[in-house]
Amino acid sequence: MSSIIAPTTQTLPKQMNDTGLRIALIFTGGTIAVTTDKNAGPVPNLKGSQILERIPEVGRYLPNVETIVYDFSVLPGPQMSPSMMINLAEFVSAVLEDVDGAVITHGTDTLEESAFLLDLCIDTKKTIVFTGAMHHSLDAGWDGGRNLIDSLGVAASKAFQNEGVLTVLGGSINSAQEVTKSSTTKSDTFRSLDFGPLGSVDILASVTPSKLRSSRQRYHIPFNDEADLPRIELFKTYVGMDDHLFAFAIKEGVKGIIVEAMGQGNVPPGALNGIARAREMHIPVVICSRCPSGAVRPYYAYEGAGRDLEKLGCLFAPYLNGQKARLKLMLALAARYEDIKLASIFSLD
Ligand code: ASP
Repeated sequence: MSSIIAPTTQTLPKQMNDTGLRIALIFTGGTIAVTTDKNAGPVPNLKGSQILERIPEVGRYLPNVETIVYDFSVLPGPQMSPSMMINLAEFVSAVLEDVDGAVITHGTDTLEESAFLLDLCIDTKKTIVFTGAMHHSLDAGWDGGRNLIDSLGVAASKAFQNEGVLTVLGGSINSAQEVTKSSTTKSDTFRSLDFGPLGSVDILASVTPSKLRSSRQRYHIPFNDEADLPRIELFKTYVGMDDHLFAFAIKEGVKGIIVEAMGQGNVPPGALNGIARAREMHIPVVICSRCPSGAVRPYYAYEGAGRDLEKLGCLFAPYLNGQKARLKLMLALAARYEDIKLASIFSLD
């Protein structure tokens, strides 16, 4: 298994720079760091300097940007964990003190989760951009170079300051709160299905990135690196679902449950029993949807529908997907949020 490596720094040569900006470029792994050989297959193993060797155009497109390079890890997205994401948040917070913005490369499978967690944890006006690649650098369709140059351009752009953590891939600029990986293979996979992008980068970063709108209201949850991250389970509903998974999770000591309900927030009657058992134990239950877009709300009144869930004291996260709701509940419980405060942060979604 790949692991976190000791961060190292390297400053790219400045082209012209008394008035320029300093942007940290933090590499964590993913397909942008992948090399491949016939026997082993594609695996991330390139360090930041090796990735940058493949993109000699960086300085030409961004002559006013001084890039300070850090190697944080060489991990594939699925090997990231919430505690590594907290480490990344602490690392980025420390690095931000000396730079004007930061770009973080990340495996696209969990990029939206790390971006969202940093958006919750880090309270800054400076721009933080997550990027990556859907095709590796030996593939004819490599998108890593463009994504990286675009991301540095957005991180250096005043227009995107104070908008929270952003993702920049496939020319599209999205908010970490809203964006999701929508396709397993397409280069324009990162989309905000409900609200659309915040802006776009059309001709690499040589022209100013264009801004369509601002981020929606954001919420900051201070993190305490001493606090234990509680165990939160995420269950997707399906026809005929019963209460077994809920009973098992309760027995295992789960501290919170996210339910990807059907449609606007409805569950099969068997799952309702499981949720009722969790609520009897005062375990917070957050309702999202298994639909990729649209809000959840307590609308229908039949058995297992949203109004039953509301009566049980479930929280509704209107536009948040399950994987992000899980991280939000994890941080909120680690920060000891309860009852009204917990309800208030999910009603913002
Ligand atoms: N499986 C890869 C990962 O998340 C995909 C990517 O980086 O695009 O590391």
